[in-house]
Amino acid sequence: MYNRAYIRDGDSTTSHGEVRVPPITMTIGSPPRFICFEGSPVYCPACKSMGVTKCVPPFRPFTGTDGRQINLDGDLCICKCPQPPRLKTAFNTPSMVFDADEMASMSGAIPWLAYAGHEIEDHEIVFEIVDAKTGRPIEGMTYKLASGGRTLLDSKTLDNGTTKPYTINEHPNLSFVAWVKGDNK
Ligand SMILES: [Zn+2]
Repeated sequence: MYNRAYIRDGDSTTSHGEVRVPPITMTIGSPPRFICFEGSPVYCPACKSMGVTKCVPPFRPFTGTDGRQINLDGDLCICKCPQPPRLKTAFNTPSMVFDADEMASMSGAIPWLAYAGHEIEDHEIVFEIVDAKTGRPIEGMTYKLASGGRTLLDSKTLDNGTTKPYTINEHPNLSFVAWVKGDNK
């Protein structure tokens, strides 16, 4: 189970900030405090500015009367800091709870899982080139791997028909090009 507590007025951030929810929302919890919805003000002492709260996955719809999504523990404070601080609750309840299946179906949850100290399931990606007829790996080809526009490897030779492995967490958008060396381009 994965637990993300609701952010409420007076909660803090990883930069020792303070969430300041205008008293226009409903109160919840014990002691009762105003619920924080996305876009609420946060004072950030690290950059000495007022930031706003921003939701990050995973979350399930839970909106206030004006349609804004509730903030959860680990959401961001968008302020002048180059690395946005995370919102921190003083209490673990009330909260939104996710089971493993639900978590696996929620895209974009990996940064929060890593922040919250959960182990992340990972998979390695390997590209392999085989002969269509025999199914045997093709030797002697050269390849290039890129991730999000950045070249990771260039002009490497396939080893037994396969590329060097990379992990999905690190490189979710891996692209692969292979060619036969010496070919005229
Ligand atoms: Zn800041």
